[in-house]
Amino acid sequence: MNKSITGKTKSGFINDALLYNNREAKMTYRKLNRSCNLPTEPIYWIFVQNRFLMIKHRLSPLLFIIIFASCASNPYAPANKLYKRQAKGFAKSISSIPPITAGKDSIIIAENWVGTVNFNLRKPNYVIIHHTAQNSAEQTLKTFTTVSTQVSAHYVIGRDGKINHMLNDYMRSWHAGVSRWGNETDLNSASIGIELDNNGSEIFSEAQINSLLKLLGSLKKTYNIPTANFIGHSDIAPGRKVDPNANFPWKTLSQKGFGLWHDEILEPTPLNFNPANALRIIGYDVKNIESAIRSFKLHFIQTDLNPALTESDINVLFNLYKKYM
Ligand SMILES: [Zn+2]
Repeated sequence: MNKSITGKTKSGFINDALLYNNREAKMTYRKLNRSCNLPTEPIYWIFVQNRFLMIKHRLSPLLFIIIFASCASNPYAPANKLYKRQAKGFAKSISSIPPITAGKDSIIIAENWVGTVNFNLRKPNYVIIHHTAQNSAEQTLKTFTTVSTQVSAHYVIGRDGKINHMLNDYMRSWHAGVSRWGNETDLNSASIGIELDNNGSEIFSEAQINSLLKLLGSLKKTYNIPTANFIGHSDIAPGRKVDPNANFPWKTLSQKGFGLWHDEILEPTPLNFNPANALRIIGYDVKNIESAIRSFKLHFIQTDLNPALTESDINVLFNLYKKYM
């Protein structure tokens, strides 16, 4: 049997070559011709070219039908294609040596590059929960696959409990916006964003919460996310955001290990207790104290969203503040 240096037979090679474009087939054919004595051009090459064009001609309508059918059955195929292209761009960027810092103003400061061998990817350390304030998960998927909206999340969970994964957990989605929690001011870089399909005032379905709990369990375990770091969009953006709404079961979540909750029995609060400092220690941005109180009450009180703290609210705050200390 006449074998090439790669171990392929002549006919095996020719069949392979036919699958590629003319130029590639020709180049590979020439390479092989040198090593395994294939018939010389132009007669044999014309035969190869003709076979290639014949197959290409027959395949074209079929390929068109396949591509058209897959696009028709998956309306997000163009978005998935764009996702892949962007992800490839980032992969190229982080694997370049020496590393190129993103941004047009980047400069190479170091004189010498020596790649360490001990590293892995940065990981999320917070989970931010949202409601979509839209009418269906489909509507949200469309919003997050439309470039002009400039918003996204890692996950969207439908009312029926279906979990849609939209972005690799290691990537930065655009869900938090201008926000702050403690001294963390770039929550998008540090968190996973989860959107719950909800019109903004509805009760969250059992199926949706069950799926959320399953997802949170996986995220907490995979990335070792601290219990206290499962919070809501309204927590990190007081005065700007009110999601998830007051129906959200934060207490149930805390019982499963996602987020903190106050004790049932509350001890009296000392007279010198400072609520603003306590809110700040928990993580709230207290630049506008009324907004901070509203966000605190949306999460931990839920029955009354008045921007004033009752004695009972203060007891809850004191109890929680000690847990966050
Ligand atoms: Zn939100």
